[in-house]
Amino acid sequence: MTAATQATGEVPLTEAELVVSGGRGLKGPENWGMVEELAKVLGAATACSRPVADAHWRPHHEHVGQTGIAIAPNLYIAIGISGAIQHLAGVNRSKVIVVVNKDPEAPFFKAADYGIVGDAFEVVPKMIEAVKKLKGMA
Ligand SMILES: Cc1cc2nc3c(=O)[nH]c(=O)nc-3n(C[C@H](O)[C@H](O)[C@H](O)COP(=O)(O)OP(=O)(O)OC[C@H]3O[C@@H](n4cnc5c(N)ncnc54)[C@H](O)[C@@H]3O)c2cc1C
Repeated sequence: MTAATQATGEVPLTEAELVVSGGRGLKGPENWGMVEELAKVLGAATACSRPVADAHWRPHHEHVGQTGIAIAPNLYIAIGISGAIQHLAGVNRSKVIVVVNKDPEAPFFKAADYGIVGDAFEVVPKMIEAVKKLKGMA
């Protein structure tokens, strides 16, 4: 980890053991606050799907998949990401995959170790609260 990343507290994606990632299901860049907060309370890095980077909601260095970065964290939390094969190519070496998607038929659930069928805008704030409680931050 560089001095700069240590100073900012940001975890570089390629070195991260925990990653919180968002897709087009999050609707727009204005909704990334909850992704960043979940990452912050977990001590995780943030990532995204390619359309999110293509739309400039997030920087391209966060884009994971066939045409982005390949990662192998201990935990990959995918929020509002469908689980297209090109996305999975970059994350399928993750040890544990948790998927949050409102569509029970989303392909990502087939690759998930844990799945939450629900609206990210309801589920993610609850995840943040639960982590805060666990860590005594609430
Ligand atoms: C040659 C090629 C290379 C590619 N390389 C990559 C790559 O490297 N990485 C990559 O990611 N993609 C890549 N793609 C694109 C890939 O095929 C998919 O189009 C892309 O991964 C879809 O991104 P997404 O899941 O964010 O969006 P979408 O497919 O639009 O999925 C959004 C998901 O969010 C869910 N959702 C919607 N609203 C909510 C809500 N409120 N709460 C919870 N869930 C919700 C939906 O049910 C849906 O499953 C590539 C494509 C091609 C052709």
